[in-house]
Amino acid sequence: MPTTAEPRDPCRPALEDGQVIVVAGREFRVVVSERRRSLGLTVERDGSLVLRAPQGCDPERAATFLREGETWLAEKLRRREDHPPAHPERGFRDGETFAYLGRAYRLQISDEERAAVRLVAGRLVIGKGIARDPVVARRALIGWYRRNGQRWTQGRLQPWAARMEVREPDVVVRDVGGRWGTYRPGDGARGTMALHWALFQLPVHLVDYVIAHELAHIRIPGHGADYWSLLRQAIPECEERKGELDDLGRRLWLGDIREES
Ligand SMILES: [Zn+2]
Repeated sequence: MPTTAEPRDPCRPALEDGQVIVVAGREFRVVVSERRRSLGLTVERDGSLVLRAPQGCDPERAATFLREGETWLAEKLRRREDHPPAHPERGFRDGETFAYLGRAYRLQISDEERAAVRLVAGRLVIGKGIARDPVVARRALIGWYRRNGQRWTQGRLQPWAARMEVREPDVVVRDVGGRWGTYRPGDGARGTMALHWALFQLPVHLVDYVIAHELAHIRIPGHGADYWSLLRQAIPECEERKGELDDLGRRLWLGDIREES
């Protein structure tokens, strides 16, 4: 089958990765991805705007896309102003609580200096030598979420993939920036689903929602009507869950450290 190349004016430079463009008075940081075919717009957690673009994208096409998306964007920014995110800060002393899969666990400082983070009898135990330095403690806790989230998802993936009739992707749990998950197709091989480590603070049904959401992207990229009807087959109440995720997600701990005097 012949591939259709987009006609491009050779005199006009294409959008470049990292470039900042201004359209209708707003600044957009450009992220170019060679896998992308379509343009996408996201509002990051810090409120900055990111335009995701395929390689060789004509700036004029991007400007038209952004002008057409202005109503959606204005509404999204207005809602953000009405409900600003309130991500909490955490310290690392006895009794501080951390959530995992919807349950709250108290932190317990152990006398063992360098003891790694582990869950013991309903407590999250951490060595006092690690807890003493907030930056080290933060890294240890995020590492704990990453390892446990990864293991948990691995056990969860097969039934969801079977239900959605897709091939199981590789999974990586990390900081995914302003989103809870992403899916990247592999060239002929398995694709990769990335999930945000902070997601694993949420109840199981919401983590499941994000997993199913990303798996549905294996079959349909983008968020058109056909995408939502596919996801609705797997999770009939997906709109409700999306609302719940938007709501609870803005109050999750994202690794911010509370300064203690
Ligand atoms: Zn999506």
